[in-house]
Amino acid sequence: MKVFIDGKFCSERDAKVSVFDHGLLYGDGIFEGIRFYNGRVFRLTEHIDRLYDSARAIALTIPLSKAEMTEATLESCRQNGLRDGYIRLVVTRGVGDLGLNPKNCSRGTVIIIAASITLYPEELYRNGLTVVTCATRRMAPGALNPAVKSLNYLNNIMAKIEAGSAGEGLMLNEQGYVTECTGDNIFIIKNGKIFTPPISAGALGGITRSVVMEIAEGFGTPVSETNLTRYDLYTADEFFLTGTAAEIIPVVNLDARPIGEGTPGSLSEKFITKFRELTQASGTPIY
Ligand code: PMP
Repeated sequence: MKVFIDGKFCSERDAKVSVFDHGLLYGDGIFEGIRFYNGRVFRLTEHIDRLYDSARAIALTIPLSKAEMTEATLESCRQNGLRDGYIRLVVTRGVGDLGLNPKNCSRGTVIIIAASITLYPEELYRNGLTVVTCATRRMAPGALNPAVKSLNYLNNIMAKIEAGSAGEGLMLNEQGYVTECTGDNIFIIKNGKIFTPPISAGALGGITRSVVMEIAEGFGTPVSETNLTRYDLYTADEFFLTGTAAEIIPVVNLDARPIGEGTPGSLSEKFITKFRELTQASGTPIY
């Protein structure tokens, strides 16, 4: 595998960062997870834009222009001869000293890995996922805003540990409203109406989330962004998660309560089908 690091491609073995990189020492950095299908990168512009927004939010200067970053991302797929897969784009604060002040880091480190990812076993896409609510609350937007896709994932990781083998972990905010799962956004359907928590509740502005919102518009059933409680989820007809790596995955059980009939819902299936069509037929060509 060829990995892009600091402006050049090198072998997986040689792709290394310094122990003084603040991405490692402090989780000081940002990232993106991007999928490509059938030789095209899905929603590349949106991912690049979100990366640069995350950078602005943490006052990090990315040492590449958006055009250069886009080209390096496509080139990472080409260098590995890939047509389908998953790209991890990371920008750290770079090498500094042992103090946390980012002023001592001269230049951000850019890493691009083009590989593959499998988040959940295939049978869960057919049969649905079990979710449990975690005691670990999602970080408050006033602390580190979950809208920033930062290298600080400990909050999510602690929730993931709690979820254990049960399946996926549901995260609430300090007020008890639903935010998202550990790495995916949330949608529910009730009486034909579709709901998702607002980003301001404390969630990442997921790109798959926005694709689902576009699909819903196309179906003539626009999504309402509204604060949701666990009651709303327990009493939903359908429930699914969205994320670049997870794509769209139905949820059939939350906290030992079956969702709807306890099987993936028919409207969720329509979203999954339309999403697959879009991923196969749109995106930025790699070759
Ligand atoms: N929430 C969190 C915390 C995430 O890490 C992700 C990405 N894995 C998502 C939601 C989904 O975002 P996207 O659809 O842009 O991948």
